[in-house]
Amino acid sequence: MRDLLGGKGAGLAEMTRLGLPVPPGFTITTKACNSYSRSGRSPPGLLKQVEVGIASIEGASGKRFGDPGNPLLVSVRSGAKFSMPGMMDTVLNLGLNDETVEGLAVLTSNDRFAWDSYRRLISMFGRIVKDIDGRAFEAILDRLKAKTASGKDAELTTDVLRQIVAEFKSVYRSKVGKDFPQTPREQLREAIAAVFRSWSGKRAIDYRNFNKIPHDLGTAANVQMMVFGNMGSDSGTGVAFTRNPSTGAKELFGEYLPNAQGEDVVAGIRTPLRILQLRDSWPDIYGQLGRVSQLLEKHYRDIQDMEFTVERGKLWMLQTRAGKRTAQAAVKTAVDMAKEGLIRREEAVLRVEPVHVVQLLLPRFDEGAKTAARKEGRELATGLNASPGAATGYVSFDPDEAEKLGRDEKRPVILVRVETSPDDVHGMLHAKGILTARGGATSHAAVVARGLGLPCVAGCEAIHIDYDAQEFRVGEKVVRHGDFLSIDGTSGDVFEGRIPTIDPDFEREEDLQTLLGWADGARLEMVWANADYPRDAQRARKFGAQGIGLCRTEHMFFETDRLPVVHEMILAAPEYRRVTARLKALRAEVEVAKNAKRADLEKQIQLLEPVHASLHRRYMGSLDKLGDLQRQDFVGILREMTGLPVIIRLIDPPLHEFLPRYEVLLVQVTKLSMARRDPDLLVRSARSEDDRAFVDEVQEAGGGDLGRGIEGLLPKKETLLRAVEATREANPMLGLRGCRLGITFPEITVMQVRAIFEAACALKKDDVDVHPEIMIPLVGHVNELKDQRAALEAEARAVMNRKGVTVDYKFGTMVEIPRAALTADEIARHAEFFSFGTNDLTQTTFGFSRDDAEGKFLLDYVARKILPHNPFQTLDREGVGQLMRLCVSKGRKVRAELEIGICGEHGGDPASIELCHEIGLDYVSCSPFRVPVARLAAAHAKLRAEVALTEDR
Ligand code: ADP
Ligand code: MG
Ligand code: MG
Repeated sequence: MRDLLGGKGAGLAEMTRLGLPVPPGFTITTKACNSYSRSGRSPPGLLKQVEVGIASIEGASGKRFGDPGNPLLVSVRSGAKFSMPGMMDTVLNLGLNDETVEGLAVLTSNDRFAWDSYRRLISMFGRIVKDIDGRAFEAILDRLKAKTASGKDAELTTDVLRQIVAEFKSVYRSKVGKDFPQTPREQLREAIAAVFRSWSGKRAIDYRNFNKIPHDLGTAANVQMMVFGNMGSDSGTGVAFTRNPSTGAKELFGEYLPNAQGEDVVAGIRTPLRILQLRDSWPDIYGQLGRVSQLLEKHYRDIQDMEFTVERGKLWMLQTRAGKRTAQAAVKTAVDMAKEGLIRREEAVLRVEPVHVVQLLLPRFDEGAKTAARKEGRELATGLNASPGAATGYVSFDPDEAEKLGRDEKRPVILVRVETSPDDVHGMLHAKGILTARGGATSHAAVVARGLGLPCVAGCEAIHIDYDAQEFRVGEKVVRHGDFLSIDGTSGDVFEGRIPTIDPDFEREEDLQTLLGWADGARLEMVWANADYPRDAQRARKFGAQGIGLCRTEHMFFETDRLPVVHEMILAAPEYRRVTARLKALRAEVEVAKNAKRADLEKQIQLLEPVHASLHRRYMGSLDKLGDLQRQDFVGILREMTGLPVIIRLIDPPLHEFLPRYEVLLVQVTKLSMARRDPDLLVRSARSEDDRAFVDEVQEAGGGDLGRGIEGLLPKKETLLRAVEATREANPMLGLRGCRLGITFPEITVMQVRAIFEAACALKKDDVDVHPEIMIPLVGHVNELKDQRAALEAEARAVMNRKGVTVDYKFGTMVEIPRAALTADEIARHAEFFSFGTNDLTQTTFGFSRDDAEGKFLLDYVARKILPHNPFQTLDREGVGQLMRLCVSKGRKVRAELEIGICGEHGGDPASIELCHEIGLDYVSCSPFRVPVARLAAAHAKLRAEVALTEDR
C-alpha cells in the first residue's frame, strides 16, 4: 500500500479506517507521479479522477470547492514511500480567492482568520508552485509585523492582513508575469503538478542519495480538506510522539502552537508549548490525543510521530508515521515494547541498528547540557550528521595549526573548513571533530571522518567562513579562531561553547545488555575479540566475547623493558644462522678431506666453535629471556579467557619493525662520530625534542659523562645500524615476515610455542580450563604450513610430555594471501582452523598497501565513486568475498569440522558481518569495543536471512 499511496497517504487511510478523526480526502498514487516525471504531463484521466475525489470530499464535508457561500479549502501534500521530512512540498488553503475569502470570513465570523489563510496561500503557492524566493514575501511580512505591539504574527489585524494580501499579489504578479490564479481548480491542478515536480528537485535527490532511497519510487499527492488551527485561541496545531524520541520514556511528547497553521510549528516562527502543558490547560484535547496515541502505537506497534490540528475545540489527525529516534530511545523502546508484549523479541532486536550501538558506545553530549545550551540560545546551526559522536574543542581553520595543537600540544581542536581536500588530512587526523560548510555525505570530509572514526558535521550551509578574518558567522553571531565549539556528528547539531561529553559505560546500559542478550539467542556466529593483553581480554569478556580470535604476540615485544632483549635476539639471529651453516659445511668437508687439507679444516672448525658457542649463548639466551616474558603474558591472557578458545598468532611483522629507524640511526652514528673529539657539540647542535632526548641518552650511557657515553654508545649504534641495513627491505609488506620468518629463524617460533604450552600446562595443573590455538600467519603454500607445523607441534608435545599434562589445542593458519584461499583444500589437510586476516587479504587481493593507499588515493577513489566504499572498512564482496567463499567451501570439503572465522577489522563491521554470515563462518572476531555491535549485527544477519526466506515462499 505504501508503494502506491506513499507513507503519508497510507497513514491517512489507515487512521481513517481505525475511525480516527481525519479530514476527508483522497490520494493520487505514485504511479501518476512517475508518469508525470517521464512525460512532463499529468497522465490522462487524472483530472477526471480528481473531480471525482473532490466531489466525494464535498459530499463528506457539505462544503463546495469554489463556492463563496460555503467554500471548501484543500491541501495538496506530497508523501513518498519513505518519509523525507522537509524535502518535498505541500500547499495549504487551496480554493481561496478574492470571493471565497469573503465567504469564509462571513461563514466563520472571523475576518482575521480568512485573510490570514489567504495570505498564506499566496505565499506558499508562489514559493512552491512558481519558485518565487520566499524572502520576497517574508520581507513584507516582517515589515508589517514590526509595526504591531508585540511583533508577532498572531497580532496582525485584518486590515494589515488585507494589505499583506495585496502586496503579496503584486509580488506574485511581478515575478510570475500573471495574476495569482483565481480559479480553485487551476490552483489545484498546478499544486498537484508542483508536488510531482518536487520529487525531482535537487534537495529531494540529494536526500535520497544520502539515505539510499531509490529514485524511481515517486511521490503520491494527498488532497485533503483543510482544517484550521488558526481560528482563534480554541484552535491550534502540533506534533506529538507516542513516546519520547530522545530518551525513549513512555510518555506523550511533543509541541503545540495555539492559533496557528501546521507549517508554523515546523518553521519555528514562534516558540511552541510542550504537549504536557495541554494536560492542565486543555484536559479534554489532551485526553483525546492520549487515546489516539495509544491506539496508533498499538496498531503500528512502533513509536508514532503524529501531526494534529485542533479546530475550535475539535481534534483532527493529519499524519502518522514511525518516529525517528535517538540511539538511546531506539534501544529503550525496543526493549520496553517487547516486555509489554507489543512486539516479539526478534523484532526488538531488528528495531535497533548496529549504528545505534556504535553511538551508545561513543562519547556523546550530556542531553541535559545540550537542552540547557539550546535554552541559552547557543545552538548555532544544524548540518549533515556525517560521522557520529560528539566533540568539543577550539576552533581552528587551518589544518597545519590543527595538527600542531592536536598532536604537539594535546589540545582539543575542531577543524572548521568550507570543505576539505586531501591536503587537509594531516590536520583532520589530529582534530577531535570536523565541521564543514559545504559538501554532502560522500564529501571528502565525511568520508575521511568516518574512516578515522571522528565526529563530523558536514554541509552546514548556515555558517559563513571567512578564512582571512579567521572567523565564521551564523546570522548575527560570530565565532572566532580559538573560541570553543561543540559539534554533534550523530545529530548534526553545532553549538557555541563547551558542552560536556559523557563517556559511555557498557555496564550501566541495562537496556542494551538486555537487547544484546536477546540478540545472542538469535545469532548463529560466535563473536570473538582481538586482544593482545590480559586487560583487553578482560574488557572483551565484559562486552560478551566468546573467545579471542587474534592475540598478536609481537606487541609484547614492543614494551620498553623488552626491546633491548629483542634487539639482542635480532642482532644475533642472522649471524648465528650464518655461522651455524658454515660450521655444518666445514664438518661435512672434514669427513672426506685428507692430510693437510683436513688439518686446515680442523683448525678452522676449532676457531669457529667458540664463536658459534658465544653466538648460541647470545641468541638462545635472549630467546630464553623473551620466552620467560611471553610465558607470563600467555598465562595472563589464557587465565582471563578460562573456558574459551584463544588464538595466538606467532610472530608476524618483519624484524626491522622492532629496530630503530634507519635514518634515525644513521644520523645518530654520524653525530656520535663527529662529537668524539668535541662532546659538547652534541649539546650545542641539539635543536628538537628528539635531539635533546638523544643527548640525555648519551649522558646516561656514560654515567653522566658525555665523552664516556659517546665511546660506549658509538660501537653499539654502529652494530645496530649494520643490522638495520641488513634487514632493510624494498617492500616490507611482501618481504620476510609471517611464517617466512618462522621458517628462516625457527628458534623464534619454537620459543613462542614453548612459552604458550608451558603457560597452558601450568594453568591446567591449577585446574584452569585452557584452549590455546596456535595460528601460523601468511601461509601461501601448503608446504610452508607443513614445515612450521611439524617443528612446532613437536615442541608442543615435548613440553606437554615434560610437564606430564595434556592440553586441548589446535594448530591452524591465517588466510591472508589469495594463494592460500585458492588452495584451501590442500592447506586444510594440515590446519584445524582458518582465520581470515582480511586486512592483508584485501591488501594482497587489490595489490594495495593500506597505509599508502589510504593516505594517497583510496579515499579519493571512494569520493569519486571509483570504489563503492573503502574496502578496508567494508569487505569487498565481489573480490575478497569471493576468495573467502571459495576458501570456505574448499576447506570444509576436506575437513568438515574446520573452524573458520575472521579476525580482520572487518569482523566488527555490520555489512561485512552479513557477508560472513552468508559464507557460513563460525565466528567473527573484532576489537573489544566492537563486540556489542557485532553481537547485534550477527543477529540481524540471521534474522534478516530468515525474513527473506519466508518472503520468498
Ligand atoms: P510535511 O511532509 O513537510 O510535514 P505535510 O503534508 O505534512 O508536509 O504538511 C505540512 C503542514 O501542513 C503539516 O503541519 C500539516 O499538518 C499541515 N497540513 C497539511 N494538510 C493539512 C490540512 N488539510 N489541514 C490542516 N493542516 C494541514
Ligand atoms: Mg507532515
Ligand atoms: Mg596479516
